[in-house]
Amino acid sequence: MSNFSYEEFNVDEEEYDNENESRINLHLDIDYFFAQVEILKNPELKGKPVIVGHTEARKDGRGVVLTCSYEARVFGVHSGLAMKIALDRCPDAIIVKSDYQEYKERSNKIMNILRNLEVPMRQAGIDEVYLDLTPICDDYQQAVKLAADIKQEIIDEVQLTVSIGIAPTLKLAKIGSDYNKPDGVTIITHNTLESIFDKLALTKIPGIGKKTAERLKKKGFVTCDQIFHRSKSDLINLLGSSGEYFYRLVHGETTNRIVPRGERKSVSHSRTFVGDPGDIERSMEYFDKLFDSTYETLIKEEFSTKTVTATVRFNGFDTITRSQSIPHYTTERATLRSMAFQLIEPHLSDERGIRLLGVGFSNLKKRDALQTSLDFFTEDMPEKIDIESLRAERTKPEVIEVEEEPSLDDYF
Ligand SMILES: [Mg+2]
Repeated sequence: MSNFSYEEFNVDEEEYDNENESRINLHLDIDYFFAQVEILKNPELKGKPVIVGHTEARKDGRGVVLTCSYEARVFGVHSGLAMKIALDRCPDAIIVKSDYQEYKERSNKIMNILRNLEVPMRQAGIDEVYLDLTPICDDYQQAVKLAADIKQEIIDEVQLTVSIGIAPTLKLAKIGSDYNKPDGVTIITHNTLESIFDKLALTKIPGIGKKTAERLKKKGFVTCDQIFHRSKSDLINLLGSSGEYFYRLVHGETTNRIVPRGERKSVSHSRTFVGDPGDIERSMEYFDKLFDSTYETLIKEEFSTKTVTATVRFNGFDTITRSQSIPHYTTERATLRSMAFQLIEPHLSDERGIRLLGVGFSNLKKRDALQTSLDFFTEDMPEKIDIESLRAERTKPEVIEVEEEPSLDDYF
């Protein structure tokens, strides 16, 4: 049974950090940014097909389109396209040289306007940014009003139009800002998901490029509604763990909270693994490798932890996630390893058979570099895991039950 993996669909594991409380997130994207600035600088370009890119392209055929005006887009010109093809499609296009200094200044002005709102903010590029409006907006009406004020202030201060998406999750907000471009505001709520995704091209989902769309097409998926109307288990069956990602995305279950850069909430790895209930040894070995790679990340990123989580998904898609915590922070490999094995071991012989294993650390604390290196070198290499002693030991540490829902948290 060939399932697609995360790598195959370029899906980002982080995307499951969905706190159950509903949040109001905003994504702002400056419309055809570079071209808009060039038209501001030279109003004669207004209403004309403008391409910002390599000005000698007509002679040497080199370069790619950085961005272009809507008048050029109707000819099929878009950013990233080879200049040679762009000029074939739109021979009358006016090529303008880029001016990063100017773009940077205007982008900074816009980011400063938004910073004044003093809400969690995350810039995702020179022309796009996420804001968490939850602290200052009680409902979408207030958010829409605020969006209008933001757009007006950006027009007044920087003379640029932007498009805004407002939605419960970050990904949906980004889909929203792209939905009614240019100069648009789009609200996506859990109630409007079906209509938003109706007949929407799959490439409108952030992260799905041409290649991925081709692969999905082979599996019978061309528009978002086709994903929206399928069950999670169907999608996982057809697309592997990426199927779960797409399901969560179109149902508003992906990351909905902006986590300031650098503040990692957890370190976790999970992998599809077909485990046979009769061969626990092999499952243990695989889990051990998964533990090692996750532990390496924990140490490399200079964290210590108090909580270990183990996840197992069975055939039929039932998923169990178990965590246990200890009162103090540690990086002791043996301690963390035995905690992880105690969590997973009871489930390895489950008759349903395994489909996915996962291990993670949370309740993280940054450690000082010196201590990190010392611990790393003093750490003795673990001996072989002994099932029997594990079973005997199972009762020791305090256990905190979590609900069945898998949580593959990472920082955004
Ligand atoms: Mg833009």
